Amino acid sequence: MKIIDGKKISSDIRLEIKTKVEKIKRTTGKTPGLATILVGQNPASQVYIKSKIKACQDAGIKSFHHNLDEKVSKEDIIALINDLNKNSDVDGILLQLPLANNEFDKDCINAINPLKDVDGLHPFNAGLLNLSKSWNEVIKKNILVSCTPLGVIDLLNKSNISIEGKTAIVIGRSNLVGKPLSILLLANNATVIMAHSKTKNLKELCINADIVVAAIGKPKFVTKDFIKEGTTVIDVGINRTSDGLCGDVDFESIRGMDINITPVPGGVGPMTITMLLENTLKAFKNRI
Ligand code: NAP
Repeated sequence: MKIIDGKKISSDIRLEIKTKVEKIKRTTGKTPGLATILVGQNPASQVYIKSKIKACQDAGIKSFHHNLDEKVSKEDIIALINDLNKNSDVDGILLQLPLANNEFDKDCINAINPLKDVDGLHPFNAGLLNLSKSWNEVIKKNILVSCTPLGVIDLLNKSNISIEGKTAIVIGRSNLVGKPLSILLLANNATVIMAHSKTKNLKELCINADIVVAAIGKPKFVTKDFIKEGTTVIDVGINRTSDGLCGDVDFESIRGMDINITPVPGGVGPMTITMLLENTLKAFKNRI
């Protein structure tokens, strides 16, 4: 069993990002900036936002944080987004989701200037990703893609796990994780199965796959019965249980198998924040 050490890979990339930011400051006199918006006091969201702000500061990226009251109207959130869209010191805007009222999510995402959409959720960026024919094109065109899927591809690449020609199954089809990750795997020439709650024979589909990604939000859902020897297992899930944090994969049940696997914590999670920093630099470059 080989553990894919997301913490270590992520910390190496963050050092490279810090060096890139220093160079940008030296050569342009400007500092890339990321604005974060948190609505309400959701404890998990507060933890995520705190980590994102700290990661920015460590990398030398300017951070602008706005914490809005949970009763704030949609119009007021959009007014703040419009101000940030106009603010030339802000290269990226991250709206922490879900909002206290998740009926506001779509309109608020759509209000973000696509050039500053570091979560890659705006229809413009989601469309560009969908139309891209290859990973090369995604990179060349500096397309802003959702951070977690980007992080997964980077983890595979940095761990020398080839994607081309492999059969990959992604369990979960959210706009944030499952869907963009499926498109990225396809762009990397995998044969991709997108699975969801209505998928039949999920275990059989998984056991025949070379790469199994769990992005479900159900603690320890993927067990030994889903996995064959030699598979790469990517656990995106972050679940808070009475026993602490765990992923969507039942790590203990597959311990000892001849597989590559991302742990929770310390796998995909740190890469998500690292890709947010990368996307902020991409957004900076796309705007100059
Ligand atoms: P989500 O929007 O709730 O989507 C969950 C997906 O799982 C849905 O597509 C759903 O299918 C599918 N699903 C639910 N039950 C299933 C079942 N029994 N069999 C097969 N598929 C099933 O969640 P998300 O935002 O994608 O997040 C997924 C997990 O990743 C969560 O634990 C979240 O906390 C974690 N996450 C981690 C990071 C990170 O940085 N590591 C980042 C983002 C999210 P339907 O579409 O049919 O309902």
